[in-house]
Amino acid sequence: MSGSLTSGRPVVGVFALQGDVREHLQALAAVGAEPLAVRRPTELARCDGFVIPGGESTTMAKLARTFELLEPLRDRVKTGMPTFGTCAGMILLADRIEDGIAGQETVGGLDITVRRNAFGRQVDSFEGDLAFAGLADPVHAIFIRAPWVERVGDDVEVLARVERGPAVGRIVAVRQGHLMATAFHPEVGGDTRVHALFVDLVRGG
Ligand code: GLN
Repeated sequence: MSGSLTSGRPVVGVFALQGDVREHLQALAAVGAEPLAVRRPTELARCDGFVIPGGESTTMAKLARTFELLEPLRDRVKTGMPTFGTCAGMILLADRIEDGIAGQETVGGLDITVRRNAFGRQVDSFEGDLAFAGLADPVHAIFIRAPWVERVGDDVEVLARVERGPAVGRIVAVRQGHLMATAFHPEVGGDTRVHALFVDLVRGG
């Protein structure tokens, strides 16, 4: 680990080959991390924690392979780097995908099965308030062509579920040890509480 955990500002990288990178960099800075846009393995090596943003999971996986970031990322995730995936990032952290494209690769590590574009292709975005484990007040969750979690392994803690509408009860936020994922976009809308929870995890909390 080569970041600055001791100075209290952990280096948290954001996968920056594709996706909504800037919003995460801003949210991380707002909760006291040192954000770093990561495009190459040397940058990844500096990170104490890592965020995989929303975007398009198939494109992100292909770019990660092309830029030789996929294997180093798998290694870091496997060896304990706290990592937070949002939306497409949740798909990339999942061990199993339903409705993926043929041969779709993931970083893996989270013992979950995600369904891509689970909320349907017609109504592909929606918003709702949901209770989130560890936060006193509900989070306003924005879903954009989002996945949901079909199944979780025994070691996975469910942090949030959809609370109303046709997808009621669906799992949309999880944690397994050093890994966290949300199907929605906490980086949108200015509420940084979920990022603060993640940065606590990076600090060892
Ligand atoms: N539907 C996208 C995918 O499968 C994810 C959408 C998002 O990240 N907003 O990768």
